[in-house]
Amino acid sequence: MMHTRSQVCALATVLLAVSACTVSSEDQPSPIDGFAGAGGQGASAGAAGAGGQGATAGAAGAGGSAGAWKGLLWPIDCTLGSDCEVTFPDTDGDGKAFDCGAPGYTGHQGTDISVTWDKMDQGTAVYAAESGVVQWVFDGHFDRCPSSTEPSCQAPTLDMGPNVESGYMVCTDGSDAYCVGTKYTTNCFFCFYGSNVVVIRHPGNAKVFATRYDHLRRDSIVVKPGQTVARGDKIAEVGSAGNSTGPHLHFEVWAGGFYVLADPWAGPCGPNQGPTLWENQLTTP
Ligand SMILES: [Zn+2]
Repeated sequence: MMHTRSQVCALATVLLAVSACTVSSEDQPSPIDGFAGAGGQGASAGAAGAGGQGATAGAAGAGGSAGAWKGLLWPIDCTLGSDCEVTFPDTDGDGKAFDCGAPGYTGHQGTDISVTWDKMDQGTAVYAAESGVVQWVFDGHFDRCPSSTEPSCQAPTLDMGPNVESGYMVCTDGSDAYCVGTKYTTNCFFCFYGSNVVVIRHPGNAKVFATRYDHLRRDSIVVKPGQTVARGDKIAEVGSAGNSTGPHLHFEVWAGGFYVLADPWAGPCGPNQGPTLWENQLTTP
């Protein structure tokens, strides 16, 4: 299927992890480089997502549902090449998407699925790509970025830390539990550039630890932390909140632990050499 590679999404993500409440320079977020601190994670995530995780995929139980796992559901109510466009991740930071073409941008951590402003205004559903339990919800922020005046479209001005919000960035609480699967051992928290964000964990799924949905429409999120969701449930609507230049969903896959990035798309330039994590990988390399 044809797809285009328009540049829609600005930087979407950053991982912060602190020890003894001190943010190291390596992990300091920057308005320009969203990947400070996430680079190492991305590199290790690729190996986890494509290698070990893939090898055990066949035996992986479905996240809460009976039978073999189907793969990730397309997480938004649109059809590629018809009413939405996609740009691809580059979780290993090699400047190539899975199919050896250009990614959304070098180091892009997720798949960006973009729609028109009209389609956003009509209300375009975002779905849980897999059954699971809602981990984090951030909502209530302006959803028509970019804007020169809206504070939540701007780069953060505060030092980021657990539960801090500044500009387009929102941060989780700090908990050692979130260090699972990361290189950090204590006081992990995560800051997202998406402003209105949902993260869903997928307990029992050996391939996909969690999925993340960014830039959502203001006050459209219909799930709460701790809530169980089924694959295909509507969780929100697409928007242009946070560090975003137009309506799109930033969809991100974590494997093996919190913020351990994986590429759901399988192809010759990897890091996922197969199998795909999608139920139906809509493009062919
Ligand atoms: Zn993105």
